[in-house]
Amino acid sequence: MNRAELAIHGGSKVKTTPFGTGKRFGFEEVSELVEALNQNTLFYHFGGKVKQFLHDFNEIYGVRYSVAASSGTAAIHVALGAAGITAGDEVITSPITDQGTLIGILYQNAIPVFADLDPHTYNMDPHSIEARITGRTKAIVVVHLAGNAADMDPIMEIARKHKLKVIEDCAQSYLTKYKGKLVGTIGDYGCFSTNDFKHISTGDGGLVTVNSGDEKDYHVTHAFADKNYQRFGSSVQRDLHHLAPNYRMTELQGAVGIAQLKKLGSICERRQQYGDRITAEIGGLPGIEPHVVEPGNECTYWFYMFRLNLSELSCTRTEFCKALEAEGIPNMEGYIPDVVYMQPLFQNRTAYPDSHYPFELTGMTYERGLCPNAESILQTAVRLPVNEFYTEKDIGEMIAGIHKVASFYGKR
Ligand SMILES: *Cc1c(COP(=O)(O)O)cnc(C)c1O
Repeated sequence: MNRAELAIHGGSKVKTTPFGTGKRFGFEEVSELVEALNQNTLFYHFGGKVKQFLHDFNEIYGVRYSVAASSGTAAIHVALGAAGITAGDEVITSPITDQGTLIGILYQNAIPVFADLDPHTYNMDPHSIEARITGRTKAIVVVHLAGNAADMDPIMEIARKHKLKVIEDCAQSYLTKYKGKLVGTIGDYGCFSTNDFKHISTGDGGLVTVNSGDEKDYHVTHAFADKNYQRFGSSVQRDLHHLAPNYRMTELQGAVGIAQLKKLGSICERRQQYGDRITAEIGGLPGIEPHVVEPGNECTYWFYMFRLNLSELSCTRTEFCKALEAEGIPNMEGYIPDVVYMQPLFQNRTAYPDSHYPFELTGMTYERGLCPNAESILQTAVRLPVNEFYTEKDIGEMIAGIHKVASFYGKR
């Protein structure tokens, strides 16, 4: 391999033109917003925008029922509430995720339990899930990280065997497919986020699919997002048997959501094409382990994350990333700084100040080394932003930058 002089050593940069950009919101959103305001109500139950947003989402996903929420975090909490998760239950989830995955678990006073991950898809390993099941386990929150599907067939089999609810966290995985099926439609509930950093944005917002298709389950889920008000048709039933938060979506978010959903297909298609191209063109480079998508699945890359095999490289990850950056290719070391169970909340067992509840119910502790694959992923990964506004030329230059840096530091 030829070893061109790295930009960080004074050589010429691979990327000299700016990355493609574009507008995420346009006339379609404005027009929906004007209509929403002209309704003279912004309440989801009186207006038509949130209803239309859910209807359109249901069409795309082929589900009968979904419920709107104020965020992805809220959506996951709603699913947990609807699934009947309660104090002292254990919920198995991923140690590499946004904290939004964990918040609802802890607000239900349930105990998060972390399963280890596949080293190259960065998703939960079914064997590790099964090994963490106890008599208290009630649910699995499966995180489909970065647009890539977790291995749902064995996960669903384990869940059925142990009578566990399955909640899919699809916040990063719109239109992601697992063996031809859309993720979010496979477990009992699928949760989505429309915060401003996701494939589509309503500023903030979320959505929960109710995959049983059962009207009673839908009503329970719907009520949990609305203070347990049973609001159907013109009747309102306010009897309060259990706590539920107010996670209602407003008509303004619903309106923007309608317009954003129309763009979802092309956004995901472009990201899939770009991510898959990176994989095809960086495989085989010394020290580079691409983001693995299992055969038959479709990844819509919320980001692209490859790993370094440092035994094949004569540099540290920091040196690699700095060199790539100097070539004009933006990148980050890893994703979150460490696995979530190393956060003070878990180390000190303080979900609530001055309390060890609910951890004290079982004496649960979280040690370094609990999920070795997950820990090592975060120590060796390099994350690239992927964006539907990038051009093929941008992607080609990202790939060329990785080639240049890997060839320079590669030992073979
Ligand atoms: C973004 C995200 C969430 C939380 O969504 P918010 O809308 O920010 O509350 C949850 N899980 C994952 C994996 C996410 O990426």
